[in-house]
Amino acid sequence: MSENTATKLSWDRNLQPTIGISSCLIGENVCHDGGNLSNDIICFEIAPWVNLQPFCPEVSAGMGVPRPEIKLVKEADHIYALGIDNEPLNATSRLSAAAKQAIHQWGRLLSGYIVKARSPSCGSGSTPLYNQQAATVGLTDGIFVRELKLAYPDLMIVDESFFANKDTALAFLNNCYYRHQLINKDMAPV
Ligand code: SF4
Repeated sequence: MSENTATKLSWDRNLQPTIGISSCLIGENVCHDGGNLSNDIICFEIAPWVNLQPFCPEVSAGMGVPRPEIKLVKEADHIYALGIDNEPLNATSRLSAAAKQAIHQWGRLLSGYIVKARSPSCGSGSTPLYNQQAATVGLTDGIFVRELKLAYPDLMIVDESFFANKDTALAFLNNCYYRHQLINKDMAPV
């Protein structure tokens, strides 16, 4: 992405918005198997224009690397993050707590968020939801993203698939720069 096609964007780190991102998307080895899901478009086309704030909710929740894989299970009106191999693991409360703690620390820092699709923690409307018989019953938000949307209902949250298209990628960046300007304006001394 050249500066000519994105004239509202800046190379100056001091003028760039801060964008939250699932750590695995920028090459941090935080996946349950110890690997990462590095995305070249984000790392090389998007990262130069924004200040990325990586966060892995499962690591922050103390689940470790490597760790048991989890899935989202619906029971009555509740959704739980449970061990995928029917292990006696319920990570729901600690994931919610880690999310709330991070959100509290960020305050008004973030102008956008890039999440990993289909993750039980980070997915945004793309995470498979299962019933107690292990059948898929729909798609939903991951536990972390659920908290993120509650705290920041106006924040633009996209997953890595958004950047396969140059126009939508640029729209996301422009939206983040616009929100960043609004935040700075609100916070500027009178
Ligand atoms: S919890 Fe989120 S950031 Fe951590 S490995 Fe899974 S998708 Fe990536």
